[in-house]
Amino acid sequence: MADVTVAQFAEVLKVPVDRLLQQLDQAGIKVGSPQDMISEEAKHELLTHLRRSHGREDPQADAAPRKITLRRKSQSELKLASPQGRARTVNVEVRSKRTYVKREVLEDQARQQQEELDRQRESEELARAALERAESERLERERAERERMEEESRRRTDEENRKRSAEEEARRQAETQAREAAERERKAAAAKVAKPARETTEDKTTRYGRQELHIAGDVSSRHKKKSKARDGRRRAVGEVDGKQHGFEMPTARVVREVAIGEAMTVGELAQKMAVKATEVIKIMMNMGVMATINQTIDQDTAVLVVEEMGHTPVLRKDNVIEESLQGEAEVTHEALQRPPVVTVMGHVDHGKTSLLDYIRRTKVAAGEAGGITQHIGAYHVETSKGMVTFLDTPGHAAFTSMRARGAQVTDIIVLVVAADDGVMPQTIEAIKHAQAAQVPIVVALNKIDKPEADAEKVKQELTKYGVIPEEWGGENIFVPVSARTGQGVDQLLDSILLQSEVLELKAPVEGLAAGFVIESSLEKGRGAVATVLVLRGTLKLGDPLLIGQEFGRVRALFDEAGRPIESAGPSIPVVVLGLSGAPNAGDELLVVESERKAREVAMHRQAKSRDVKLAKQSANMQDVFSTMGEAKADLVRILVKADVQGSVEALRDALVAMSTSEVGVNIVSSGVGGLTESDVTLAAASKARIIAFNVRGDAAARAAIKDHGVDVRYYSIIYEAIDDVRAVLTGMLSPEVKEQIVGLAEVRSVFRSSKFGTVAGCMVIDGYVRRNFPIRVLRNNVVIFEGALESLKRFKDDVNEVRAGTECGIGVKNYNDVREGDQIECYSRVEVARTL
Ligand code: GDP
Ligand code: MG
Repeated sequence: MADVTVAQFAEVLKVPVDRLLQQLDQAGIKVGSPQDMISEEAKHELLTHLRRSHGREDPQADAAPRKITLRRKSQSELKLASPQGRARTVNVEVRSKRTYVKREVLEDQARQQQEELDRQRESEELARAALERAESERLERERAERERMEEESRRRTDEENRKRSAEEEARRQAETQAREAAERERKAAAAKVAKPARETTEDKTTRYGRQELHIAGDVSSRHKKKSKARDGRRRAVGEVDGKQHGFEMPTARVVREVAIGEAMTVGELAQKMAVKATEVIKIMMNMGVMATINQTIDQDTAVLVVEEMGHTPVLRKDNVIEESLQGEAEVTHEALQRPPVVTVMGHVDHGKTSLLDYIRRTKVAAGEAGGITQHIGAYHVETSKGMVTFLDTPGHAAFTSMRARGAQVTDIIVLVVAADDGVMPQTIEAIKHAQAAQVPIVVALNKIDKPEADAEKVKQELTKYGVIPEEWGGENIFVPVSARTGQGVDQLLDSILLQSEVLELKAPVEGLAAGFVIESSLEKGRGAVATVLVLRGTLKLGDPLLIGQEFGRVRALFDEAGRPIESAGPSIPVVVLGLSGAPNAGDELLVVESERKAREVAMHRQAKSRDVKLAKQSANMQDVFSTMGEAKADLVRILVKADVQGSVEALRDALVAMSTSEVGVNIVSSGVGGLTESDVTLAAASKARIIAFNVRGDAAARAAIKDHGVDVRYYSIIYEAIDDVRAVLTGMLSPEVKEQIVGLAEVRSVFRSSKFGTVAGCMVIDGYVRRNFPIRVLRNNVVIFEGALESLKRFKDDVNEVRAGTECGIGVKNYNDVREGDQIECYSRVEVARTL
């Protein structure tokens, strides 16, 4: 047990290995290499040798021979190796005085004792082995006995059922007794073996008198010795501190490497650092973050905490597991030209569906099964000049929701504008989406067959939004078409291909496929059905698949005409069967090496999405703004909505003027009116913040805000909005929350009384309304009045507060134009101190 290799011993002594080898050689101890074992005896011999030589060499030792004796006495190998570690305590000196004369004798004694200890340990071990053997035999016997008895009982059960339970009870008792007896026996035996061992120790202690105390501390106390010998580092640490006692606790700071995932709870983090969770919470409080033990914190916070506690954070990218999913596949194959992927957008009734239908009807080769094309959300058409893929989900929602997920699939947007109707709100919206995504626009001037069509007027209108025809020096191709007659459709396809040539769209055809989900559903008898667009590589039957949080194997592939196919290359939409569940539109598809791998990653993602969701939920407004601060390196994107055009322009101008060379402000979109769902999805997709000036979101917008976690800030004072953005740009502290909407009431009916003026009969639909809080009156989500409450009543009684789900009567001070359908928003101004 005490035997270590020379190298380990050198480490314990903190001397270089070759120096030790040299010393061993001088002492006449034969060792070959650092890996050879060095026995306890050899150590002692070395000790003696070193003492002797030090006695000669060390001038201090000559001057103060007693102290040398003392050092030897203290029996610390380290001391010998580093002469500076002098003995310090007086009482040790006293002891050494006694032993000084009998140095040799002492050493002999130590050696003898060591030998004796070894012997004793040996015998003990033998005894223990014997005991163990006896124990296992006993257990074996017992088991055999039990089996025998069970056998017997079974037999008896056959003979006599009634008696059985009683007998068994008796047997069980007997058995318990037997076991107890055996236990007693075993204990007695153990005691017997243990006792002599203890006696010898005691014996020895007394035999050697007081000095033994010392040796006992260092050499004896078997168990400690064992652990010390095993853990050289610990011992060395103790000695560096100048501490003699082998039983000292380790005093070195343990610096741990703490793996930090993308989301973990405070409790988990504490556990990884082997500290109490309260410690972590305390540290976080000092950092200005309030947290509870079960709160999920993000990676950045966790890193700060770990560093604060003096450990080393190791960022564990949760996607390590995902990183090598396709690996080389992406790089090794040559990229070839691929067909463009086109999304059709435009105002309602301008003919998007008609146009897509016309193209599909006339250009897509029908399948054998009756020539009825399936609706799969996408199709591709062959023209004499090349192939074009259309995403058959007209509208902005699909486009933005895909983009919000990072799936920028569309290469070209076809903007359908009815030539008889001109630019309409959704036309403008479509342009903003396209511009935000930096996707080129090809304009289809539709319904050109109509006599009232005025293509020139539409062109003129579109220039206002930055969509300018080539002939006027712009970049956009305009094609007059008719979805009814088919006029111009071929030119449109040509133009699309022309535009795509400019874009130089390329993708490797070889290798593992990757793509995006366009649509998915669960169908009876077919299971999960996903329409995917392959972006690179070739998707084949039998490929192991990973899509978002789903996995599987390609069981069947169909093209848009419903024909089974065997493979699909870049830009080709296909229907895939064989997934574990329906993925989300916009999820990425990856073919991976094995289904097992796909499953593993899918499971990992499922677990992670749960965690990340939780972490996101706990992120508060200030966190959002501080991440806004992170973006200051390049660009802060903002979407502005305001009550009137004047405010929009004022805000826009002020914000844009704030751009510096380092930090830009990009107004993704701006407009008049309440926040719509489309605004929110656009902001989410563009990673923009929304500044809502005197406007609010409708129900759908509010849901989308929650859904996408978009940062929306409501203002009623322009300079506050500007100040906040400036604070973010200059990397200052996150601004305090100045205003909090506490409740919302809906006006259900309006009464006029000569006594109280106009009273609005309201239903509180959210939060609460409090009498002394300021209010705003909203109409169509736009603020039309700001002020205070004159009265707040429940039936006939004045009340201070009315909560959600309760009706009440509200009189607005100095305002009599409250109408049915208006909303009354109650808010409070709170001063939140800026904290570091
Ligand atoms: P969407 O809302 O943009 O999908 O528009 P639809 O495709 O549903 O078309 C709206 C209406 O316009 C339908 O009644 C179509 O028949 C009509 N329409 C679409 N394209 C044309 C066209 O080129 N010429 C004429 N005359 N009518 C069209
Ligand atoms: Mg339509």
